[in-house]
Amino acid sequence: PAGWSPAYLDALNPAQREAVESLDGPVLVLAGAGTGKTRALTTRLAHLLMTRRVSPWNILAVTFTNKAAREMRERVGALMGTDTEGWWMGTFHALAARILRRHAELVGLTSSFTILDTDDQLRLLKQLMEAEGVDSKKWPARLLLSVIERWKDRALPPDRLRPEDAGEAAGGKVLTLYRQYQDRLRTLNACDFGDLLMHNITLFQAHADVLADYHRRFRYILVDEYQDTNVAQYLWLRLLAQGHHNICCVGDDDQSIYGWRGAEVGNILRFEQDFPGAKVIRLEQNYRSTGHILGAAAGVIAHNQGRLGKTLWTEAEGGEKVRLRGLWDADSEARWVGDEVEALQRKGTSLDQMAVLVRAGFQTREFEERFITLGLPYRVVGGQRFYERLEIRDAMAYLRVVAQPADDLAFERIINTPKRGIGPATIQQLYQTSRALGVPLLEATWRLTETDELKPKVRGTLRGLVEDFARWRAQMDTARHTDLAQSILDESGYTRMWQEDKTPEAPGRLENLKELVNAMGEFENLLGFLEHVSLVMENAETVDSAQVSLMTLHGAKGLEFDVVFLPGWEEGVFPSQRTLDENGIAGLEEERRLAYVGITRGRKRVYISHAANRRIHGTWSTSLPSRFIGELPDEHIAVENDPGLTSGHWGQGMAGGDGGYGRGGSSWGARSDNFSDSFNRMGRQAPAGNRTSRLIEGTALDVTPRARPDAPFRP
Ligand code: ATP
Ligand code: MG
Repeated sequence: PAGWSPAYLDALNPAQREAVESLDGPVLVLAGAGTGKTRALTTRLAHLLMTRRVSPWNILAVTFTNKAAREMRERVGALMGTDTEGWWMGTFHALAARILRRHAELVGLTSSFTILDTDDQLRLLKQLMEAEGVDSKKWPARLLLSVIERWKDRALPPDRLRPEDAGEAAGGKVLTLYRQYQDRLRTLNACDFGDLLMHNITLFQAHADVLADYHRRFRYILVDEYQDTNVAQYLWLRLLAQGHHNICCVGDDDQSIYGWRGAEVGNILRFEQDFPGAKVIRLEQNYRSTGHILGAAAGVIAHNQGRLGKTLWTEAEGGEKVRLRGLWDADSEARWVGDEVEALQRKGTSLDQMAVLVRAGFQTREFEERFITLGLPYRVVGGQRFYERLEIRDAMAYLRVVAQPADDLAFERIINTPKRGIGPATIQQLYQTSRALGVPLLEATWRLTETDELKPKVRGTLRGLVEDFARWRAQMDTARHTDLAQSILDESGYTRMWQEDKTPEAPGRLENLKELVNAMGEFENLLGFLEHVSLVMENAETVDSAQVSLMTLHGAKGLEFDVVFLPGWEEGVFPSQRTLDENGIAGLEEERRLAYVGITRGRKRVYISHAANRRIHGTWSTSLPSRFIGELPDEHIAVENDPGLTSGHWGQGMAGGDGGYGRGGSSWGARSDNFSDSFNRMGRQAPAGNRTSRLIEGTALDVTPRARPDAPFRP
């Protein structure tokens, strides 16, 4: 009856209702953060079902993450009171895989095809490179793989490319390799992630009947976070929407933050051309944040050129101003965040409602350690805890073997990392010797290299490794531990392994390794540091209670929290120097959108901070506050700088170490009794350039005072 509408529609404002009720034809909801785009999209889905327009199988709903898909499922499931099993709701990858399984034969696969991970992809590509005589030193497989993946992001199979598109990579052979790689995948009945969408597109283009079938099926298409789609995703959506044209996309050009992964903000800007007759709906009321938070976010994003520009307002009170704080150093920053979290918790805010959002993964470390010290439960969302990360575990294994040569587990972990051609059979042999002689694995390795039981090549490699460890161990008493750690990572080839790695994760891993060395600088020596880490790890049990979330800004897209901490707003960190170097002004604008995403995650309180000094490789360097800080409008921020800046807070901070460093006689400190003297001697005799001379002059360096920041603080 007229005038009557169901409760779920009454919970929306008129513009949102329009987005929900404009069911026919293309619709774009283009609106700022927190205006209820995701809510409108979910309600639209429910509305389609409630009004019995279509059955669940007729709707395709695409979200950016599996988590978002799950949330949508839960919300709609609750609204409808039904099970959502089998509905077409998920990420691009998940949905494309499901479609591909149903028609795999048409692209030369069978429905049981496997999806390869990066390791498999690389192994395969390397085999092909070898056969083609491509020098993998000059052209690392990872680099070539990323060239191939970029083509796949743009839905370009080998036959759509011309030789001139391929350029000089791999001596002009990259296109040949791409073709062979695709052939091999077919033979293996496998595909990689990029293939999922690309095969879908090929399939739809070559088989009109199949596409027509999906047109009949998917009468409504819903897409969240449309600003972050890449070319392949866009083409896929366009093909599927050709049938009914009932496609509804929601997004915010100001939140496009995946340009570095091939996303094209142009997709959202071109929507009206791509989908003629599109209705564009703008939402302007923000339901998430207070006036001051919105004002701060708007002030920053206004500095970007070429935006569509949007109005945002809120009925919420002005609330608290965004708190901006300058601190002496990273340590005090983590303390400050920890103290504020505790204070808010005491006043009744749940830890679940607090998040620390960082620009890069390595930055979580300071906060993790602080939270562990305070006993505050936390989780690292979309990533691992710092000391559990692969590269950190590897690096720690090297350090453990140096400190404690009987640590067989650590030695086994890195004996072939980076790859040294030591296979499982050799490792077996080492273990047998170790058991037979009753000595640790490292010593067994050394003993074996004294015999001729090993193949000469393996023997030489292992000999070199044992000598390296002996040399590093000898340096333990003389070299500064941070320098030693750096040498170990460099001389072992571990750093190089990640430098040559061209996967998107590699730069982050290198940053984590640097951060590890930085972290060591807070301790007097290696043993103290190792002990600290083992204690930290022990306390890091997972709990069921509420937890503070730690995550990257990228990972926080679409989420909201009562309280958001945005630390590390310093030039070079945020905006990230790497992005500025690689992408210039476009990179800067993407960083600024990231700042906008960060601020707009907060509902009630946002804290922004920057440290004046950071330790980089054991030495202090000064940082300038981020340019984005200067862009925050005065009327929306409350500035409070570290009082310690003028009152000697620094010295206090240094003395208050709570990590238990420098303690002797710990399990880490105890040297193995089994460890043979000759091994120690070998290290001292090993020629190691100027390291030997340092060793001769060497005195215990543990008393070295830590460097003090002397650079002036700039507010
Ligand atoms: P983002 O751009 O960050 O993804 P969004 O536009 O998708 O944001 P939502 O997450 O859908 O915004 O909504 C933000 C918050 O506002 C949510 O807590 C949501 O429940 C609430 N909200 C949305 N619309 C309304 C409304 N009409 N009345 C009350 N609350 C609303
Ligand atoms: Mg959203």
